Amino acid sequence: MRISFVWILILLIPFAGIAQPKAKKEKKPLETALNTPARRAKNVILLIGDGMGLTQISSGLYNNNNALSLERFPFTGLQKTHASDDLITDSAAAGTAIACGVKTKVGAIGVGKDNKPARSLMEEAEAKGMATGMVVTSSLVDATPSAFVAHVPSRDQKEDIAKSYLNIDIDFLVGGGKEYFTQRKSDDRDLARELQEKGYVVSDYTESEIPKVTLDLKKNFAFFTAEEDPGKFQESRSYLLPASRLGAVFLKGHNDKGFFLMVEGSQIDWGGHANDASYVVAEFLEFDRVIGSLLEFAMEDGETLVIVTADHETGGLAINPGSQMNNLLTEFNTNSHTGIMVPVFAYGPGAELFSGIYDNTEINRRIKKALGWE
Ligand code: MG
Ligand code: ZN
Repeated sequence: MRISFVWILILLIPFAGIAQPKAKKEKKPLETALNTPARRAKNVILLIGDGMGLTQISSGLYNNNNALSLERFPFTGLQKTHASDDLITDSAAAGTAIACGVKTKVGAIGVGKDNKPARSLMEEAEAKGMATGMVVTSSLVDATPSAFVAHVPSRDQKEDIAKSYLNIDIDFLVGGGKEYFTQRKSDDRDLARELQEKGYVVSDYTESEIPKVTLDLKKNFAFFTAEEDPGKFQESRSYLLPASRLGAVFLKGHNDKGFFLMVEGSQIDWGGHANDASYVVAEFLEFDRVIGSLLEFAMEDGETLVIVTADHETGGLAINPGSQMNNLLTEFNTNSHTGIMVPVFAYGPGAELFSGIYDNTEINRRIKKALGWE
């Protein structure tokens, strides 16, 4: 026993050198032309597919006759999604990384791991006089949109998050969760009325539909698409495409200082949690049509940077052997999020900055770089 133990040790020695942790080198990106954008972006459209990993995209692709709008993007990268306290992130921590550029704890919204508020791209754009907008298929107080407007330690503070919409003048706002604004438990405020008093044109699903609303380009616009969570695309929800397109056109006309628009395909994630591949594919393919439409907008406009990414993957989805075009054998590995890197697609001025492998916080920094903010 003793001898073989020694032998094992001897055999391990050559590998010990390899296994030694090296002194951590400063990870500096290579100094190339890619670090300075050739041309500044005036407008940014950031599209976030919640839970949209490579398999969600591939499932959409191979359920759609091998064609996606995403294939038209000239630059792609990969981002690392881990949170500060957990390798497996959530939409709060990952949204905060993208929106505010800081790694934080799972569940935290717009604050660093020290709970200190971190300024979001939306707030910074607003402060710089740009027009700002947000269109989501979740409630407006869900984690992803919240990371762009609120600063609270927990994503569960939904009524506090709703109040944050009064502190920031997002010019074009479309999403669900009206009840957190108008039927509040923690106070008697009517935040929809308060938005109106601030000069917003406020409307909702009980009064109109998104393609039918008339817009005053100079006034801010808020539209609630549901009392709680909006329904599924498979169950007749259809506003994401017209609202996103309307948002881009509205923001371009709202002022001449450029705009920042965030669009979220929120429910790709929910399909993953439900382990429902047809739900995932339907939500993703809708999102891909929105991507195509906003890409066309950017091609015509010429000054718009379009970024498409995810906050994390959901479900550990696989496309199994035996799959055929438009007839996939998919399988989920979990009903939670997973830790794999997620893709980034970029088009427009500054798009070249998004090649490579980097942390999710880099998306924030590279968007600022593309806009010439740093
Ligand atoms: Mg989300
Ligand atoms: Zn999720």
